[in-house]
Amino acid sequence: MASTKYIFVTGGVTSSLGKGIISASLATLLQARGYRVTIQKLDPYINVDPGTLNPYEHGECYVTEDGAETDLDLGHYERFLNRPTSQGNNVTTGRIYQSVIDKERRGDFLGKTVQVIPHITDEIKSRIRILGDTGNFNFVITEIGGTVGDIEALPYIESVRQLKWELENDCMVVHLTLLPFLRVTGELKTKPTQHSVKTMLESGVQPDVLVCRSEHSVDADIRKKLALFTNVRPRNVIESRDASTIYELPIMMYKEKLDEVVLDHFLMESKIQPDLNRWKDFLSRLQYPKRILEIGLVGKYVELKDSYKSITESFIHAGAANEVEVKVRWIHSEHLTPENATELCKGLDGILVAPGFGERGFEGKVATVQYAREQKIPYFGICYGMQAAVIEYARNVLGWSDASTTEVHPDSTKPVIALMDEQMHITDMGGTMRLGAQKCTLDEGSKAFEAYGETIISERHRHRYEFNNEYKEELVAAGLHTSGINPDSGLVEIVEVQDHPFFIGVQYHPEYKSTVLNPHPLFVSFVRAADEYRQNK
Ligand code: GLN
Repeated sequence: MASTKYIFVTGGVTSSLGKGIISASLATLLQARGYRVTIQKLDPYINVDPGTLNPYEHGECYVTEDGAETDLDLGHYERFLNRPTSQGNNVTTGRIYQSVIDKERRGDFLGKTVQVIPHITDEIKSRIRILGDTGNFNFVITEIGGTVGDIEALPYIESVRQLKWELENDCMVVHLTLLPFLRVTGELKTKPTQHSVKTMLESGVQPDVLVCRSEHSVDADIRKKLALFTNVRPRNVIESRDASTIYELPIMMYKEKLDEVVLDHFLMESKIQPDLNRWKDFLSRLQYPKRILEIGLVGKYVELKDSYKSITESFIHAGAANEVEVKVRWIHSEHLTPENATELCKGLDGILVAPGFGERGFEGKVATVQYAREQKIPYFGICYGMQAAVIEYARNVLGWSDASTTEVHPDSTKPVIALMDEQMHITDMGGTMRLGAQKCTLDEGSKAFEAYGETIISERHRHRYEFNNEYKEELVAAGLHTSGINPDSGLVEIVEVQDHPFFIGVQYHPEYKSTVLNPHPLFVSFVRAADEYRQNK
């Protein structure tokens, strides 16, 4: 097999230009040409992983099949490529240093002075090459977080410089930059890009391709000028205009020939065109919806929409599958009470209660469930949203007013959600989170089975507390259907309320598995139920 090609994606001028989406779009195009591609994110912060980061700081924590808590860009990679990523696809400075320091403590460096170069850069390079060394990929695209010139990005840029020598022709650098538009003079300015490329050159790295984010079209003169000042071929200056949806980017990059430029760089065949039919079909359903629905998303981090990235993307996929547009109404769980639920949820076609941790806003989630259940509005509860559904059922159907989760009320006399015995002693050691993919067996008479169309499914988890099986019998007798069970542990993974248009709570996170080409069945069914509900109103 030909050697793996490594593509580095760096960013200049400002953050938030969409390196993740450009990386995912390029990967999508190469994959559509039949190549095997994976994408990796290097994060320059010192946290070991984003698992403990507040979502307000960094948006959602994305969880992979193998239970790694990772950056939300990995979600984009999976949604675009329709392939799972893993721990190896996300590396942080914290993890790099942790592993170098562990080696130092073990004496692996034989008493030598341990330094950024070569020890840290060696560790970074080995983490980059690990994916290519599996022999599974033709291309490894490595996105370097942050912006060129940041102090914390320096060891990564230095590693790229070294790899450019080591890998010779198997390596290239794509630099994403911003061309600001000055309204007074009516022009796109190239100077910030010249500066950011200069900063890269000071570190010894020459970009091979420039992707220029811009509000306006980048004409031939500007491309020539940029090429002249940055030593990049004019053809390798690519325009990336603002788009109405991130899912347009692969098509836009195809029109700009980003994939062709990359293949030409590696002297690889670029004549066979990528097969983008399914992608285009998705886009046209997305852009021309037949109807618009409104779904309430109830959570406590609603000020930062990125905290629920995978959920809102899942709605986009499921909406397109149903040929409808899903508008999200953001509802703060701290503000919702039994008294104002009618007002805050007025006109909604469906309600989703989002995952979360801790006490803040939890009672608002329970009040939301009661409203959705009693008013028979399609309800979808994820993780904490499932736990809230169980608690609401215990309180208002069984009349157990003290029912709760021990996460919020450790002294509840009806702890219907609790830590399991075998977790109790692990708590002291600090590692109790149920993380990653686990199996679940579905009851064939359930709505969940109707949605999935199969009996054994596998879904990803990220939580500590569980449905307390001590109360299962009574809850089931009162009409709560436990329709999904973990075959290995016996833990309840799905609850449903029958005699309701759609009421499902899942302990796992279906949103992590929804992709453009494979919209998640539960989201598709939920959106369908909301659409039917709207039409019957
Ligand atoms: N806080 C709950 C638990 O830890 C739910 C977690 C979540 O919603 N991801 O079990």
